[in-house]
Amino acid sequence: MNLLQDKVVLITGASRGIGKCIAEQCVKEGAKVAFTYLSSEEKAKALEAELSEMGGVAKGFKSDASKFEEAQDLVDCVIEEYGTIDVLVNNAGITRDTLLMRMSELQWDEVMNTNLKSAFNLTKAVQRPMLKARKGSIINMSSVVGVSGNAGQSNYAASKAGLIGFSKSIAQELGSRSIRCNAIAPGFIETEMTDKLDQKVVEEWRKAIPLKRGGTPKDVADLVVFLGSDMSLYITGQTINVCGGMLT
Ligand code: NAP
Repeated sequence: MNLLQDKVVLITGASRGIGKCIAEQCVKEGAKVAFTYLSSEEKAKALEAELSEMGGVAKGFKSDASKFEEAQDLVDCVIEEYGTIDVLVNNAGITRDTLLMRMSELQWDEVMNTNLKSAFNLTKAVQRPMLKARKGSIINMSSVVGVSGNAGQSNYAASKAGLIGFSKSIAQELGSRSIRCNAIAPGFIETEMTDKLDQKVVEEWRKAIPLKRGGTPKDVADLVVFLGSDMSLYITGQTINVCGGMLT
């Protein structure tokens, strides 16, 4: 359908999981893709090759999204390479799950810096080029846990709730320049990570979801394509759940 024809999309954390699928779907829709990773060099190179074989224009960058200066350098490199950034997907995220009783300061800080500060870093860096272009779409990967909370994930839930407040504020600040900002709240998405879990537990989770299955990375990537495209030009400041009805 080429919903993203000639748009430049920057995705953080795309060496695997949901981010990788977002990169693939964006290329399928005609976008030029820049994506980042932290340490999965080989996976990033393989994805770069896969996206090129699909006939796409794509480049991977090693860049720590939690570092302010690295985010600025990354955006400068992407602008030099592609001339502009139309869509920013703040997808990079980690978990350091444990009860508050056992949570260390490091576990709190790592999650906050990777999941929340990263969105500040990257949004700040793309703000100037998007303001100049008087258009842009910023998409922040939150979680249903950011809406509902979850025992054992106070750091993660706080970071994901923070992304929702951040997205609403940026939507209000930049709306007059046609720059949109939305959050996506995935529920239980089945990735390589969940393959390693006890399959009996996973089956129980599936049964508790109204649509009776876990989500796929593509379920999330399809919404990214929509929010990045001109199909969603009147949608900003929203948090959209992709959770099979889990959070209703
Ligand atoms: P994943 O498979 O663990 O992949 C995480 C990605 O983020 C990897 O590419 C990783 O790169 C990258 N990354 C980690 N720290 C980074 C940093 N400091 N700078 C740059 N990149 C970094 O995760 P996922 O399951 O696909 O999740 C993607 C996003 O969706 C996350 O924000 C997550 O919180 C959110 N989400 C996931 C689910 C789910 O069920 N999976 C549900 C709700 C929300 P390396 O490979 O180099 O480490």
